[in-house]
Amino acid sequence: MKLLRHALFGCLALTAASAHADHPEWTQPQKPFRVYGNTYYVGTHGLSSILIRSADGLILIDGTLPENAPQVEANIKALGFRLKDVKLILNSHAHSDHAGAIAAIARDSGARVVASEVGAKELMVGGHFPDDPQFGEAPEYPPVSHVDVVPDNGVVRVGDVTVTAHYTPGHTPGSTSWTWESCESGRCLHMVYADSLGAFTADGSDYRYSDPAHLERVTNYRHGIAVIAALPCDILMSPHPDQSDFLERVARRDAGVKPNPLIDTGACRAYAEEGTRKLDAKLAKERAGP
Ligand SMILES: [Zn+2]
Repeated sequence: MKLLRHALFGCLALTAASAHADHPEWTQPQKPFRVYGNTYYVGTHGLSSILIRSADGLILIDGTLPENAPQVEANIKALGFRLKDVKLILNSHAHSDHAGAIAAIARDSGARVVASEVGAKELMVGGHFPDDPQFGEAPEYPPVSHVDVVPDNGVVRVGDVTVTAHYTPGHTPGSTSWTWESCESGRCLHMVYADSLGAFTADGSDYRYSDPAHLERVTNYRHGIAVIAALPCDILMSPHPDQSDFLERVARRDAGVKPNPLIDTGACRAYAEEGTRKLDAKLAKERAGP
């Protein structure tokens, strides 16, 4: 069994390595740390994985690449937590670089996996999802055997922690952003894990965001961006930490910069504006193209 698992990981690591050769930071180790209150970072240097501690177990958002599962699990343990206390695993979007390790971490911890309605379907087919704009290019990964669905604006709970799901489709059809509250020394902040807002399609794919037969693609995309812009937002985190300058903010915080550079109530709005720019650029390119 153990041998089989190693063989499986080896094979996937190869696939992922060839697909992400230009992103060495995605597998680069990162010392885990506290973000704020009960929120911790347990991802790699280039891919976020967020841990939330409750009075009755842990919630993990995103697992990163399949081959990073041992690294994320080690980071959880390095903070003094037990893997079996991870009760719930959530996902931003079902691409290999954020969802790839979820099946392994769910198996090793016994955690339940919860996602948006479409996100659940995507996770259960390991990213092999024809409605994905990057279908055919985004690497597949070990599927999650069972995923429960949380509705838009629905909540999931572990102990005293409540996390709200905000459907923000666009980058993938199942894309989801998550919010919760974390408190430190009596000061409670709005924590936001906003999904990627990049509008990418696979090379050679006939997927068009601007396809008149799928007007809902752009409508839903813009709605999701507006949702993120309007969120109560004190600390923004993102699936790729560099999308929100997250690790730079952490470094400045750790260097003693005051006020805490992680706290930025305009960060979600700026992130959303950048998303609109990317989407508009993609639409213009599609309309100008052949
Ligand atoms: Zn993606």
